[in-house]
Amino acid sequence: MAMRAARAYIGIGSNLEYPETQLRQAFRALAQLPASRCVACSPLYRSEAVGGPPGQPDYLNAAAAVDTTLSPEALLTALQTIETAQGRVRTVRWGPRTLDLDLLLYDQLVLDGSRLILPHPRLHQRAFVVYPLYDIAPDLEIPGQGLLSELLKKFPQPALVRLDSAE
Ligand code: ADP
Ligand code: MG
Repeated sequence: MAMRAARAYIGIGSNLEYPETQLRQAFRALAQLPASRCVACSPLYRSEAVGGPPGQPDYLNAAAAVDTTLSPEALLTALQTIETAQGRVRTVRWGPRTLDLDLLLYDQLVLDGSRLILPHPRLHQRAFVVYPLYDIAPDLEIPGQGLLSELLKKFPQPALVRLDSAE
């Protein structure tokens, strides 16, 4: 019998010099995950870097939905492999990260492991996660946090710019 696929949501971020290239590459890599099917990619959002040294490039963020028969731990490992592969591009040692892939949700699973916490612990605090996630999953419920549509209301005027898909 075929294993039922889980629906996982992935948060994607980059503040490399050319973060849009990183995000597009990440979408392609997610589409090639083993035992998985990428079912949705959000628009891209731009936000100013908060904290850190001045003159940091803006962040770009997005979210993706993946149906997968990988375990949550195997999926995290696969995401870290993608980060490593792209992180080697155009980056200086100890420099800022080129790509961050966070496992936001894996079905409605709640986990508090040393390596993997689900839902992602900062999901509900970050407009740059909540907005793109809402674009691809408006009816989503976050275990312990309630409806995503309600979380969105906590960020009425986020400092986020949704990029035109034609860009
Ligand atoms: P950030 O919190 O800024 O995304 P990293 O991407 O460097 O930082 O992740 C740090 C650690 O967070 C990883 O080593 C990973 O094991 C752990 N982690 C725990 N839960 C998650 C999750 N849901 N998604 C991604 N990483 C997670
Ligand atoms: Mg991360």
